Amino acid sequence: MSAPGHSASELHVLEHPLAAAQLSILRAKATPPNEFRRALQKVAVLLLVEAARRWETKAVPMESPLRSFEGCILQRPVALVPILRAGLGLQEGMMQLIPEASTGHVGLYRDPKTLLPIRYYCRLPENLAEAEVLVLDPMLATGQSAVEAVSIVKAAGAMRLQLVCVLACPPGVATLQRAHPDVPIITAALDPELNDAGYIVPGLGDAGDRYFGTG
Ligand code: URA
Repeated sequence: MSAPGHSASELHVLEHPLAAAQLSILRAKATPPNEFRRALQKVAVLLLVEAARRWETKAVPMESPLRSFEGCILQRPVALVPILRAGLGLQEGMMQLIPEASTGHVGLYRDPKTLLPIRYYCRLPENLAEAEVLVLDPMLATGQSAVEAVSIVKAAGAMRLQLVCVLACPPGVATLQRAHPDVPIITAALDPELNDAGYIVPGLGDAGDRYFGTG
C-alpha cells in the first residue's frame, strides 16, 4: 500500500542546484573517497527532504517565549533500510537530520553473471507497519536489487514505502515500477543508459567502492 495521496508509479527527480553541484562531485572520477562520502551525505539530506515532503505531521500545542502556538511532530516513526553496502552512505547522511530513525539492513549482492540479487543478510526494525520507510540504494540500475529489497520490506509489514536513490536510469525505474507500482521513487538524477555490465552511464562508477575506498 502506498502513503495516502500517492498515485501509482511516481518518479521524483530532484531539480535543485545544490543537488546538481554535489552530484558533479560524485560523478567526477578524480573525487577522492573522503570528498565522495561528504558529497553523498549532502545529497542524502536533500533526498530526505524531498521524500519527507509526503509525510504527515501531528499538531502539538507548544509554548514559545511569547505565547502558545500549534507546533507539530512527525505523525509516524521513520525507518531507514539501506541496501548493503552502498546504501549505508545515504543512511549515514540522513541520520544527521533524523537521528531518531531506526535502521534496518538488507544485504544483497549482484550475481556477476545473471545480475540478479542474492540475499545474504536481513535485519529489520519491528515497527515497519507504522513507519514511514525509506529503502536506500544510491544506484537504481537494473532495478533487481530494489525490487527484492522492497519485497522483503513489504513482507515484513511496511505499508508506507519510498525508494530513494542518487542516480536512476530508465530500465531500473521501469523494473521497479512494474514490480511495485505503489512505491514512489526519489532520485537526484535520471541518467540515460545502463551498460552491459549493469552500470549506469554516465553514472558515477561503483558507489560502494567509491564510498568505502575499496575500488
Ligand atoms: N551499482 C553501482 O555501484 N553503480 C552502478 O552504476 C550500478 C550499480
